Amino acid sequence: MGISRRTFFVGAGAGAVAVLLAACTPEPAPNPTTAAPTPTPTAPGPTPTALPAKPAAFVRSAWSTDPYARGAMSFTAVGSSPADRETLSEPVESRVFFAGEATSDRPGTLSGAVSSGERVAEQVGVAAANGERIAVIGAGLSGAIAAARLRQAGFEVTVIEARDRIGGRLHTLDDDAWPVPPQLGAWLLSPDDSEVQQRIALHDVPVEALDGELALTDAGSVEAPDAAPLEAAIAWAEPRPADAPLLEALTESGGDPEAPDTAAFLALLAATTGADAAELSAWFPPESPDLQLEAAVGDLRDLVAGPLDDIKLLRSTTVVGIAYDDTGVSLRLGTGEALSVDRVVVTVPLGVLKDEGIEFEPLLPFSHRGAIAALGMGDVETIWLRFDDDVWDTDAAFWHVVGGDATIRSWINLAPATGENILVGRVGGEAARAFAQLSDDEALAAALASLAWFLPPAQ
Ligand SMILES: Cc1cc2nc3c(=O)[nH]c(=O)nc-3n(C[C@H](O)[C@H](O)[C@H](O)COP(=O)(O)OP(=O)(O)OC[C@H]3O[C@@H](n4cnc5c(N)ncnc54)[C@H](O)[C@@H]3O)c2cc1C
Repeated sequence: MGISRRTFFVGAGAGAVAVLLAACTPEPAPNPTTAAPTPTPTAPGPTPTALPAKPAAFVRSAWSTDPYARGAMSFTAVGSSPADRETLSEPVESRVFFAGEATSDRPGTLSGAVSSGERVAEQVGVAAANGERIAVIGAGLSGAIAAARLRQAGFEVTVIEARDRIGGRLHTLDDDAWPVPPQLGAWLLSPDDSEVQQRIALHDVPVEALDGELALTDAGSVEAPDAAPLEAAIAWAEPRPADAPLLEALTESGGDPEAPDTAAFLALLAATTGADAAELSAWFPPESPDLQLEAAVGDLRDLVAGPLDDIKLLRSTTVVGIAYDDTGVSLRLGTGEALSVDRVVVTVPLGVLKDEGIEFEPLLPFSHRGAIAALGMGDVETIWLRFDDDVWDTDAAFWHVVGGDATIRSWINLAPATGENILVGRVGGEAARAFAQLSDDEALAAALASLAWFLPPAQ
């Protein structure tokens, strides 16, 4: 089963993405009027008669309902653009600074978090006088990088984190039941993530390449779903006078979102961006899901703990209000206390800003509020399953469920890379929000039912 070559969508105004595209071999020109073909089975697959064997252990994420994330990652919603991220990264009155993946040109990635942390430290460095007190809100990767840089530059830095743990959307579980520690947030790296790769290497976290795709229907294996219908949709949208939802562009360009392979590709897109095609901008589409990936298969916590070493950190402390003027900043904490600093770096997820989890006094400028409202916060949930025995027989790392009514269509098989029988399911968009509402028993049953074509039935 071949791995699909890395591709990027390119939209009308997607300058940064276009640069990336230039680095890749061009795709054949898409045919905007051709509907996505229904896949033809090429080999018979198993016909399950019952749910597959139960796993020995499972864990799942709950980002959609997490008050300190309120989603998984930002996306460029229809009507918004990368300019909104630039607006959000502009300092307010030289007192309030924003960082975090949503303010970067690599949204929804660790690389974006790192670059935003570096960028904001430079901005503060230009505005602040020697020795000033700087608060960094959020001990995720962007906050940790910003805090370390600011501390190195001689500022008095305090990091304030709402959770009792650091890391934010980087969340390695420490559980002896797992030979490979489950990652409830980020853990996959593309060739563009070289700086993050270097940081991971510095902390001796093992990394393994993931390779190969397997797509199954109830009738057997088929070609892995590809981006062609969406590329046609983006080409359709490009000359239009206004942005359109990617879904509309897909149907208008002759694609059929219900076609099994297109639906499987859209599910993969949702699982990597957090957004459904109805929400995504066709003018500024996301990068096409990358399947040339490396997986961090060890404990990633030092990635954040390292930079925070020796920096003053207040855990379990929620910031609920930020008052600012040209003399300084006052932070209102959930405990009712207040903290005065000279400047503040806000790295909380876009979902927290969108839900007004922090009250600003005075209100943020109209430009910032517009950017926060326009950008989208997507939802991704992940479930890790560990089996005691070998219950599947393929070396393919990326599994796609094509057709049927599976809840989770995108899976990663860690067995070839790690020798452990671990499957990781990823679900995005509306399906992720629905998945988050399930009880653990229901979620496990839905996951196993989704795998019915891949795993043998329980004896
Ligand atoms: C399921 C999932 C899978 C992902 N997979 C990948 C992947 O494979 N590869 C990749 O590169 N990226 C991935 N990402 C994205 C990546 O995790 C994020 O882009 C990155 O971790 C964001 O870092 P950040 O510092 O911007 O935000 P965060 O890590 O969210 O840090 C913000 C911090 O602010 C804290 N906070 C929130 N509100 C308050 C408050 N009011 N007061 C004080 N503190 C507060 C939060 O608790 C959090 O610790 C994934 C994300 C998710 C959710």
